Amino acid sequence: MWYFTPYILFPLTAAMLAMMAMFQAWSYRQLPVAQVFLGMMACTVWWSLCNALELSHTTVEGKILLSSIQYISVVGVPFFWLLFALFYTNRAHVVSRRLLLVLLTLQGSFLLGAWTNSWHRLMWPTVELTYTANGLWVLTGPNGPLWYASVLNAYGMVLVGTVLMISQARRSRALYRAQAISLLIGALLPWVTSILFVTGLSPIPSIDTTPVAFALSGLVFTVAMRRFRVLDILPAAREMIVDQMPDAIIVLDTGNRVIDLNPAAQSILAVSVDVLGRSLAEVAPYWLVDQVRDRYEGQFEVNHTHALGTTTYDLRCTTLRDRDGNPNGRILVLRDITLFKQAALALQEAKEAAEAANQAKSAFLATMSHELRTPLTAILGYSEFVRQDLQSRGLDDLTADLDRIITSGRHLLTLINDILDYARIEANAVKIHPEPVNIALLINDVVSTLQGLATQRQNTLTVAVEPDVPPIVTDPIRLRQVLLNLVGNACKFTEQGTIHVHCYRSTADMIQIDVRDTGIGIATDQLQRLFQPFMQLDNSTTRRYGGTGLGLAISQRLCRAMGGEIVVKSEPGCGSTFSVRLPLVEVTQWRHEQELEGV
Ligand code: ADP
Repeated sequence: MWYFTPYILFPLTAAMLAMMAMFQAWSYRQLPVAQVFLGMMACTVWWSLCNALELSHTTVEGKILLSSIQYISVVGVPFFWLLFALFYTNRAHVVSRRLLLVLLTLQGSFLLGAWTNSWHRLMWPTVELTYTANGLWVLTGPNGPLWYASVLNAYGMVLVGTVLMISQARRSRALYRAQAISLLIGALLPWVTSILFVTGLSPIPSIDTTPVAFALSGLVFTVAMRRFRVLDILPAAREMIVDQMPDAIIVLDTGNRVIDLNPAAQSILAVSVDVLGRSLAEVAPYWLVDQVRDRYEGQFEVNHTHALGTTTYDLRCTTLRDRDGNPNGRILVLRDITLFKQAALALQEAKEAAEAANQAKSAFLATMSHELRTPLTAILGYSEFVRQDLQSRGLDDLTADLDRIITSGRHLLTLINDILDYARIEANAVKIHPEPVNIALLINDVVSTLQGLATQRQNTLTVAVEPDVPPIVTDPIRLRQVLLNLVGNACKFTEQGTIHVHCYRSTADMIQIDVRDTGIGIATDQLQRLFQPFMQLDNSTTRRYGGTGLGLAISQRLCRAMGGEIVVKSEPGCGSTFSVRLPLVEVTQWRHEQELEGV
């Protein structure tokens, strides 16, 4: 019933090759083209295995049964082959439900015809078991009309697929030449073996080598897939991408003749038909010819003025080279960047306008402050003078009003100075002058300046500078300004409490100065707004304590300019802690850097 023949190695090899092809294509399985390919290879495996079994079997009934099962793949392979060609050549839109239904019905009826042959004998009228010269048991007999119809149909399908593949291979550009050759071999293999089999020229008669051929084609296709990434970008899809690109692409040969171009390029050219093969000078507008004349490599900006305005292009020229590196043409890519240019210009203009406005604002503020300060100084000076005069004449009851004038005048002067300062910072006109600073001395100086203010409100003002704080490099004038503001605020917003200034190294490269008070504190929701200009939290408090609302805004910006920042922690009713954090630049390190910079 069963016997061994070495000929089964053919179908077994085919099954193995097809399985290898499946294994290779498996990683692409989410793509429809790969799914169809896997279907085709699965059918080939089935075909080969059934074929191997049939070859090793000796009874007529067994052989007929195995052939019937095998027939599933005989009708399946051409079906999948056609679908594969359609997907591969980017014709997925053709594969409609209707087409699938027609093909499946057609193939299904042939399969049914094969399975019901014993009733109608239209496929194989008679079959008999023959023992061939090469030691094989095979079924022989004439073929019926249904068989011819099914073979014709299968050949038709494979033919359509092959024609599609060959036309695709022909269309593939030089870039895809190797891939195109692989496809061509893959497409033609089944035909060659089939013709050999039908004409009796096959070296192994009575063995159907078709599954071997399909398996080999499958393998060739997978080589193309692997090596040339067929499934990543199908050439047809790639052509479509280039065709749909809004950038104009023109390929020229060394004689400046147009050898390829995309539709976007077509619309730029002066001539619209039969452009290929003609010289660029003949078909392109003069401005383009002019711009690309001696440009072989690089990126250029090209302006083309026409009736409707000026169009700006970004032109890229690339020299094409053959295998030996000799130039054999050029690619020109033109991208319309008019809108981008206009936007950039508008942005530049807006920036310049904003800068000019800012400068004007700063100049205005500086002049205004100066103009305001001059008469104000006179008002303050004369008020003091009149006050002394009144006092010396014993008219003390009149001095109270003058005191109000003097207090308001001083407040106005502080306000003007702050505004001027803030305007300078905003206009980036504040320069930081770093120099070695003994931080303990500076803090003590600030504290002694404000001692009077602290005692006015019966506050205790204390200082602690940790011994490990080294002299640092920073701007002493600006740091003093910041500390005066913070300690001043702490004194202003605290009554009968304590204010403690503590300086220490918070990290290896940071110095921190905490100004802690036990004053009125700040509500959490107001902490964020604290550093905004003209920000005063509570009008009643401010009225009581005075101030401009600019101090913290200025201090924060100064700290940032010095490479640090101010952070705040506070609790209403308990007090606040304002912390100045500054980078620790040690004097030796700074001197070394200065030397390196040659200062
Ligand atoms: P001003 O010149 O008005 O003091 P600042 O910018 O220095 O301006 O402060 C803004 C506001 O922040 C103050 O009006 C006050 O309401 C609040 N503030 C600042 N420091 C303290 C503090 N130590 N305790 C409580 N409130 C404070």
